[in-house]
Amino acid sequence: MRILITDPIDPEGIKLLRSKGLDVDEKYAIPQEELRSIITNYDAIIIRSRTKITREIIDAAKLLKVIGRAGVGLDNIDVSYAISKGIKVVSTPEATSTSVAELVFAYILCHYRKLVKANSSMKDRKWLKHELTGNELRGKTLGIIGLGRIGIEVARRAKAFEVKLLVYDIRDVSKECGEINALQVPLETLLEESDIITIHVPLTKETYHMIGERELSKMKRTAIIINTSRGEVVDEKALLKALNEGWIAGAGLDVFKHEPPIEEWEIELISHPNVIATPHIGASTKEAQRRAGYLIVNAVLNELIKSK
Ligand code: NAD
Repeated sequence: MRILITDPIDPEGIKLLRSKGLDVDEKYAIPQEELRSIITNYDAIIIRSRTKITREIIDAAKLLKVIGRAGVGLDNIDVSYAISKGIKVVSTPEATSTSVAELVFAYILCHYRKLVKANSSMKDRKWLKHELTGNELRGKTLGIIGLGRIGIEVARRAKAFEVKLLVYDIRDVSKECGEINALQVPLETLLEESDIITIHVPLTKETYHMIGERELSKMKRTAIIINTSRGEVVDEKALLKALNEGWIAGAGLDVFKHEPPIEEWEIELISHPNVIATPHIGASTKEAQRRAGYLIVNAVLNELIKSK
């Protein structure tokens, strides 16, 4: 059987596939046209977020039995069309949760202790000791929007900082809230009472721009918001307005509508002094990538065995 890999995964995973006697081709960063012309030869494809598996690709994939997405989020795959053609779609959403949760605390601590300014001023040979008074996290209220895989990991780690936890989720998550000593509340309450808000929902019709002007205007002027979910969950123009007009104190952003940001106002947002921005690195740790590679290879192998 032949497997095509079009986005890099951990080499150990690829070794495992070859050790099972599978014919593996690695073709990274190939254009969509090329993918369409070669996909016909493969029984499985393994991708990450870059490769788009569209209807056209699926129509050309005469032998394809399984699409493996290393990581989380299936927005780059036409999943329902693939399933209608009898192609299995597997992913490894659990592989990256710890890495994303840890990044959330990096943002929080950077904001609370003004680490970005402290570091850059030192490099400029300035000693700003008195301007860099920060805040403690202890006793603050952390609002988690979406208590799924990542949200719960954030909550577990938050316990060590002795913060009060509020959760908003469309599901009844009272059982999970019991475990982490959190209170499930309406979104309105979370917005009004949190010192830090961190977003962990998927991008859906309902969550598109779920944080806009109305929601930002309800937050405390001292509050910060962190988005490591998907850019379009937050109305970024409204966020820029909120930051410029001092409705909130800051933001930590790992995800954007355009990646990389291209429009002038998007550049203004990432350049804002109270914004810490990173290029979608939530899952970019060696451990998460290793885990994702191993898990996706096993999931693809299972599906290929079942298809025989
Ligand atoms: P998950 O599916 O495990 O959890 C999502 C939670 O959101 C669930 O509890 C669900 O009930 C809740 N939810 C869904 N719709 C909602 C709504 N309308 N209102 C309130 N709650 C709602 O997802 P996860 O694995 O925790 O991932 C969370 C997000 O993080 C996703 O958007 C994912 O794409 C993103 N992510 C980003 C990175 C990164 O590199 N920055 C890495 C991994 C995941």
